[in-house]
Amino acid sequence: MSAPGQLPHYIGGEFAGPVDGAWLDDIQPATGAVLGRIARGTFQDVNRAVEAAKAALQGPWAGWTLAQRADLCDAIANGIEARAEELARLESQDTGKTITMARNVDIPRAVANFRFFAGAARHQSGDFFEMPDAINYTLRKPVGVVALITPWNLPLYLLSWKTAPALVMGNAVVAKPSELTPMTATALAEIIHEAGAPAGAFNLVHGLGGEAGQALVEHADVNAISFTGGTTTGRMVAATAAPHFKKLSLELGGKNPTLVFADCDFEAAVEGAARAAFLNQGQVCLCGSRLLVERSIENEFTAALVEKAKSMRLGDPDAEDTQLGSLISQDHRDKVEGYVRLAREEGGTILCGGERPSLPAPLDRGAFLQPTVVGGLPSDCRTATEEIFGPVVTVHPFDTEAQAIAMANGVRYGLSASVWTRDLGRAHRVSAALQTGMVWVNTWLHRDLRVPFGGVKESGVGREGGRYSLEFFSEATNVCVKKTP
Ligand code: NAP
Repeated sequence: MSAPGQLPHYIGGEFAGPVDGAWLDDIQPATGAVLGRIARGTFQDVNRAVEAAKAALQGPWAGWTLAQRADLCDAIANGIEARAEELARLESQDTGKTITMARNVDIPRAVANFRFFAGAARHQSGDFFEMPDAINYTLRKPVGVVALITPWNLPLYLLSWKTAPALVMGNAVVAKPSELTPMTATALAEIIHEAGAPAGAFNLVHGLGGEAGQALVEHADVNAISFTGGTTTGRMVAATAAPHFKKLSLELGGKNPTLVFADCDFEAAVEGAARAAFLNQGQVCLCGSRLLVERSIENEFTAALVEKAKSMRLGDPDAEDTQLGSLISQDHRDKVEGYVRLAREEGGTILCGGERPSLPAPLDRGAFLQPTVVGGLPSDCRTATEEIFGPVVTVHPFDTEAQAIAMANGVRYGLSASVWTRDLGRAHRVSAALQTGMVWVNTWLHRDLRVPFGGVKESGVGREGGRYSLEFFSEATNVCVKKTP
């Protein structure tokens, strides 16, 4: 097992320090304290992990049946559940998110991901196509060595979302979590080890994106890459991987609209819009950071949203009643504050927030920012169209359904949207017209793990979730058998 405070790689069934002996500090964003040391992976560490993964695919792991792999995923789920409170604390410390979010969302979802994909794989059916003189059936084989690259906003939640389908379909994994949030990835490696995964089936390389991540994407023996992160990084990953014809799934950034029509359930829509704007300090790819409101209720709606934002309890992530914790880092807060300045320059009015809160030590060294509502901006300005990824929402009025749709679609992203209306016909019409991979009607972030998850335009390529993940993490081989007379 790994030593306390040390976060080594996990390669070939063993915890191992970096080949060249370099380590990075893991910083707690809410206090600036150093939580531990992370192995700073280089090409050499990545190469060792890929070699271990290749060996696993030639070794006992290759002989595991689908039922055994599903049982392994269930055992991993049990292992996460047994350490749930400890994992929630690690996730909260590492990310700055509230302990209640880590406890109620991140960790239960990691358990659910492993259980869900164990069940989904057990119950999947195969394809069969009959011809008059032949039958076709389709085998699903592992893709091989798969690279899983994940961001800092939902660390274990997203790593488990990729690891479970990758393992259950028989691949060998090399995971590279964000260097900002390595702790629960190391804990997951411990849990997978204890659950009895054979050496090399799951490998973990820590380090910087530009070093370990880039080396992994470039590695000639990596057959598939599942990447979740920003659009700029995703573009680099795609450019590196494409010439090698690696299988690629890209879950990227978003600038998601919340469309509120005058006939909505007002209270529910205010609650939903506030949650969509500020959950996890606005650091969820699906966050509704552009609020489009029918003009007849705009003033009343904006006032209610501002009231709600002002009443949110911001502070110690470890306190049970805190609703907003710290942003991921000082650098990221600087970036978000830059957008608040830009909003002013573009003619916007800060209706609430936009400032650092005054908090007692040691939280005064944290990366906190008040929930911020901005009005008075055109819907096509930079503040209203670029991903901020912080607790900032811009409000824009519209007069007609067509105008709302045009404003919603007027960004380069296309991840998700939420629509608030009591008119069922309108809900269907607007949902069909929106250029996004996902639409929620009268709700937001209501997840069924079977449904396709992913974006269009610059929000990504491909879908994950349910059978979409099982298909991504497998290769189809069709067998055509001539019928004998
Ligand atoms: P990011 O900077 O793109 O990083 C994502 C991951 O890629 C991290 O592990 C990062 O490592 C690594 N990385 C960086 N440069 C790399 C390179 N050249 N080659 C390979 N890997 C590299 O994104 P982030 O700031 O962590 O996360 C926020 C973004 O993720 C937002 O845009 C958000 O919308 C998006 N996101 C999307 C979804 C979705 O499902 N669509 C879900 C969550 C988040 P380091 O962190 O160590 O540099």
